[in-house]
Amino acid sequence: MTTTPVQRTESGAPAPSSADARARRTSLDLPYTLVDDMFIDGAYTPASGAGRNPVTDPATGEVWGGVPDGSAEDLDAAVGAARRAFDAGPWPRFSPSQRAAYLMRIADEIEARAETLALTNTRENGSPITETRGAAANAAGIFRYFATLAEYLEKDDVRPFPFAPGQESVVRRDPVGVCALIAPWNFPINLVVIKLAPALLAGCTAVIKPASPTPLSIRFIIDAVAAAGVPAGVVNLVTGSGRLGDALVKHPGVDKVAFTGSTPVGRRIAAACGELLRPVTLELGGKSSAIVLPDADLDSMAKVLIRSSMRNTGQTCYISTRILAPASRHDEVVDMATSVISAAPQGDPLDPATVFGPSATKAQYETVMHYIESGLAEGARATTGGRAASPADGLEGGYFIEPTVFADVTPAMRVAREEIFGPVLTILKYDDGGPGGGLDEAVALANNTEFGLGGLVFSSDPDAALAVADRVDTGSIGINFFASNHSAPFGGRHDSGLGTEYGIEGLAAYLTYKSIHRNAR
Ligand code: NAP
Ligand code: MG
Repeated sequence: MTTTPVQRTESGAPAPSSADARARRTSLDLPYTLVDDMFIDGAYTPASGAGRNPVTDPATGEVWGGVPDGSAEDLDAAVGAARRAFDAGPWPRFSPSQRAAYLMRIADEIEARAETLALTNTRENGSPITETRGAAANAAGIFRYFATLAEYLEKDDVRPFPFAPGQESVVRRDPVGVCALIAPWNFPINLVVIKLAPALLAGCTAVIKPASPTPLSIRFIIDAVAAAGVPAGVVNLVTGSGRLGDALVKHPGVDKVAFTGSTPVGRRIAAACGELLRPVTLELGGKSSAIVLPDADLDSMAKVLIRSSMRNTGQTCYISTRILAPASRHDEVVDMATSVISAAPQGDPLDPATVFGPSATKAQYETVMHYIESGLAEGARATTGGRAASPADGLEGGYFIEPTVFADVTPAMRVAREEIFGPVLTILKYDDGGPGGGLDEAVALANNTEFGLGGLVFSSDPDAALAVADRVDTGSIGINFFASNHSAPFGGRHDSGLGTEYGIEGLAAYLTYKSIHRNAR
């Protein structure tokens, strides 16, 4: 496989460069580009209106596809189909094991579509192809994991009354109903599948609304569901703006809402669901910290730095974009981060050599540039990056920003407190000469945000690392690496969300319980 050589700008940072960018795009033969339909009641169905939203390649700025801007009528049709499939269809009446068999078939069908899915996803949001090539396998893994929980759903759960011998309760785990699944653009497959798989296993039906920038790649999941023979109406797809998402959240035919996205939109959805007393799961933004203990092995940290702190061009909710470095090793940490980030190739996301792609949208590009300007204005020092990337052949209209490392960051700076969602790393210093080796200060810094989603501790001492991890106020935290585990709960505290995905706890979000009290038999 040939890789595109990386051009160097005057700062020495790799710039987006791809002489082959145009050729790569013209040679693509993707099944979905301009589409006029949505998946409703078991079939791709023409939209009721002529309104269409564009799909843009963020590496070039060119529009290459489009989808219907769904109307209230389309939404009624989709929710109506999901409602009928739940109220009268076979899906909720199948046994959990029967549904699990469908989940296993869906997983196989997704894997059969891995490459077109990856190419479509990369064209939609500029995620590096090495990232999106893992999306199908990850999605299949999630379906297969939830299939294993059929056993849990089928287990008899009969509980004696603690103080009344002779009486007992049968506890049922019923599906909660029609689920509205609303996803963002950064991981458009995973963030739908982590809702859809448990919803389907539970016996729910679903209406999916993808983010506007990424409405096409999700069709490969829909195709897999259809190819697996899932009955009509169980899974439906509507496309459209945030307005359609709002209408879906409030639709009278919906029983539960699962949302991943920004904190401001999450608050609005929570308010609407509060008014309706509609159960809701919210996976929102983050601003997580990597605490570097004085004994950390920086060579090992260098190997996982991009994955744990800059994954997907910094567009990952749980990454630790704040590095908390002990004063005694601060300069070493800055040098390590600077050399790792500045050596990582940025360029055409369709090029397998690319580590950093463009920002996913023009709006996100502008937000990130604004944060970079704010960091510089507040006195942060860019040791690499700190500006837009210079255009390269074939990628002149792309939304590229040089991956940036900010040193001399103080806790009050906006870049230290707010979610940037772009290729910007901040390094803050804590005083490890202080009482307790500075750990109180490091933990306080880590906990000094409105969020509580991810985090990391780097240390050569597993016990010391675990003790620090226990003190961080967050939903998930890694020791020397970060990854999500399908079987362990993932969720945010505080402004990072409500409720849990993954694991048996993630399945519980799609269940409603019923206790049937009776005389013991
Ligand atoms: P967003 O603007 O909140 O949008 C997310 C989804 O909600 C999109 O489908 C959007 O549709 C829709 N939407 C917008 N307004 C709505 C409304 N009033 N009611 C219902 N739905 C509405 O987020 P984004 O910009 O796509 O994604 C970036 C954010 O997601 C970041 O803050 C990131 O941290 C967060 N995120 C969190 C996690 C996690 O698991 N915690 C994972 C990934 C990302 P349109 O696209 O059509 O506007
Ligand atoms: Mg948005």
